[in-house]
Amino acid sequence: MRIGIIGAGQLGQMLGFAARDLDAECCFLDPSIDPPAAVCGEVIQRPFDDADALSRMADSCDVITYEFENVPVAALQQIVDRVPVYPPPEALRLAQDRLDEKRLFETLDIPLPPYHAIDSRDDMEAAAARLGLPMVVKTRRLGYDGKGQFVVRNNDGVTAAWAALGGQALIAEQWVPFDFEVSTIGVRDAAGNMRVYPLTRNVHKDGILRTSCSPVDNEALSRKASDYAHRMLEHLDYVGVLALELFVSGENLLANEFAPRVHNSGHWTIEGAATSQFENHLRAVAGLPLGETSNRGHAGMINLIGEITDAARKLEHGELHDYGKEPRPGRKLGHITVVADTAARRDELVEKIDKTVT
Ligand code: AMP
Repeated sequence: MRIGIIGAGQLGQMLGFAARDLDAECCFLDPSIDPPAAVCGEVIQRPFDDADALSRMADSCDVITYEFENVPVAALQQIVDRVPVYPPPEALRLAQDRLDEKRLFETLDIPLPPYHAIDSRDDMEAAAARLGLPMVVKTRRLGYDGKGQFVVRNNDGVTAAWAALGGQALIAEQWVPFDFEVSTIGVRDAAGNMRVYPLTRNVHKDGILRTSCSPVDNEALSRKASDYAHRMLEHLDYVGVLALELFVSGENLLANEFAPRVHNSGHWTIEGAATSQFENHLRAVAGLPLGETSNRGHAGMINLIGEITDAARKLEHGELHDYGKEPRPGRKLGHITVVADTAARRDELVEKIDKTVT
């Protein structure tokens, strides 16, 4: 089995490692020089929408998938008639536009924060009047890790947000004073079998994921999140892993966004679940039976951002994953996973490691 993967970053690398265990070969498409996934397969060093490169992949691979959300949908459309492409390009299209994404949540009766589409300065004023302040203004397309976002706290903020982001399609969301954030990661195969991982609690700093812990000790929230994941997987006729990020407010969940790919908040599954999200994604797209998604203990993950310090390399506990990337402020360079017997011990380790590595 040869699997074509568009994107060769750290997610591609971890997919590549999982592929080895399945005796599958990976071939990546990525324009960057020596990307992280180069250690586990051939990399065609071309733009994501390069027609020749895509054609080569379609000819030489049994299935094509992607690890990166900003793959042009048109690139996938070029090959969709020649080779199976999973997850479905329509899921990617919806995830690439925050307005379409929110309409999808509404269609599926998944609660979400009130929002207002913005195409002009007048729309920005109308959004502030309707949603109240603070509100978060986001670019509709190409935002990630909190980039392309502006929190409007007062009337001057409306002008500043327009100066910073105006001139492109935007969306404003009501500010959610959430208790905490969670993500639910589900997987579906082409026959319609579905599995969902135990709920994960996430902490972001400066818009970037910092830590993830699973499972979350709340049956009602876990059931609700799992139900929402099932609705999305079924509705999209989805194949592969999908991650849905949600805000928790009391017993309510509000959808923030979804990713049609393996997700940073699921990295703990490598050591902490019966089958990792990477293996299950490959199993789904390759037509192999899905693996169990149960926890193997209380798992925690700490992202290593900007640099991997000596202290991070010398930790007594935890599994270090170094993606082999050049250090740069704000860049995800690796992560550490811990698996403990109790939630209290896991939380203690995550807190200690998070303090040590920054
Ligand atoms: P996003 O890129 O939409 O995932 O946003 C990055 C992070 O910003 C989220 O994980 C939240 O921590 C925060 N955030 C985004 N939207 C909101 C909101 N409407 N209310 C409160 N916090 C938000």
